[in-house]
Amino acid sequence: MSIDYLIIGAGFSGAVLAERIATQLNKKVLVIERRKHIGGNCYDEKNEANILIHKYGPHLFHTNNKKVIDYLSQFTKWQPYEHKVLAHINGDNIPIPFNFNSIEALFDTHKAQTLINKLLAHYSKNSKIPILTLKKSVDSDLKFLADYIYDKVFRNYTAKQWGIHPDKLDTSVTARVPVFIGRDNRYFNDTYQQIPNKGYTHLFKTMLNHPNITLMLNTEYKDICKLKKDTFYLFNKKFEGKLIYTGQVDELFDFKFGKLSYRSTYMEFETLNQKQYQNATTINYPNDYTFTRITEFKHIHLSQSNQTTILKEYPQMHIQGKNTPYYPIFTEKNKIQYNQYKIYAKTIPNLILVGRLAEYQYFDMDDAIENALEKFKQLRKE
Ligand code: UDP
Repeated sequence: MSIDYLIIGAGFSGAVLAERIATQLNKKVLVIERRKHIGGNCYDEKNEANILIHKYGPHLFHTNNKKVIDYLSQFTKWQPYEHKVLAHINGDNIPIPFNFNSIEALFDTHKAQTLINKLLAHYSKNSKIPILTLKKSVDSDLKFLADYIYDKVFRNYTAKQWGIHPDKLDTSVTARVPVFIGRDNRYFNDTYQQIPNKGYTHLFKTMLNHPNITLMLNTEYKDICKLKKDTFYLFNKKFEGKLIYTGQVDELFDFKFGKLSYRSTYMEFETLNQKQYQNATTINYPNDYTFTRITEFKHIHLSQSNQTTILKEYPQMHIQGKNTPYYPIFTEKNKIQYNQYKIYAKTIPNLILVGRLAEYQYFDMDDAIENALEKFKQLRKE
């Protein structure tokens, strides 16, 4: 088998590059995946109750990037879907991102109006303010509100989710869920909010279905490909093509500079004999329980089932080989450690690192796709 490109990992980064190389460069691609399925952490499947579940946690597609939508639309039709999240605070479920409706749900009318007026006096309507920015307010009402939101919504959730003190975490993490200066209860404000009408796995199947693409599932790349000094050997022969690696970069280099920290999650699915469990797709539990959130999949993918499936997410340490790495843990120390791997990777010709794990980036799906499309552009120029 003659291979021009070897791609490790069949998540979005790997699948986009495989598809582009196969169709645009007419080159042969071998995709290696250690799991028994394609799609990486976006993988979904129908369960015993005929409900489409996201095996690695809820994946809600949203983007402002038309290029990404146009690209994916070659492989799927869409179903409109706007994600809504509530947070369980003081016994009530209030809208998240925290907005005027959340304020009114938690404070008496007079106090709520004062806080809303103050927000409008300081920020423009419909803007998004990171909680850590709001916490720097000098106005006493805004400072009170910021501390309240931080304590009730962010502090404990963030500690639970990441397993470290929130102060150590890069500010971009909590900025993903800003305070909203308005009444929009949607989790995202992006122009495009939609999900593949037959699910993500189906989308990946269509992307990878090409005669130039060979897929090997259940395969550890180290069983077929070895790195000796700066040269890759595939099936014991020197590999002259390019290797695109989308897995954990520390694992690729045998943890040469130490293990990078990733966060994992234990996913506990329950199928219940009732038509509906909760009145939103996701309810966050910042201050109660050891799980962070409960997601009910019927709200995402409609189903006629008399049962319903929910998912509780329990964040945990990533233990190499034991559980799945989901998130890079963005601290200063970890970023410096990653940089050592990045610099080292540059010394290996024909190696390209792509994606959330390999580039140690908190990419959303649209970011991962855009990033892979950009990598393809560079590769095409070479
Ligand atoms: N976050 C929080 N409370 C919430 C929701 C989010 O503290 O109710 C913080 C938390 O640190 C989380 C981050 O915001 O990790 C990003 O949340 P997002 O929903 O984007 O996380 P993901 O869906 O990627 O796990």
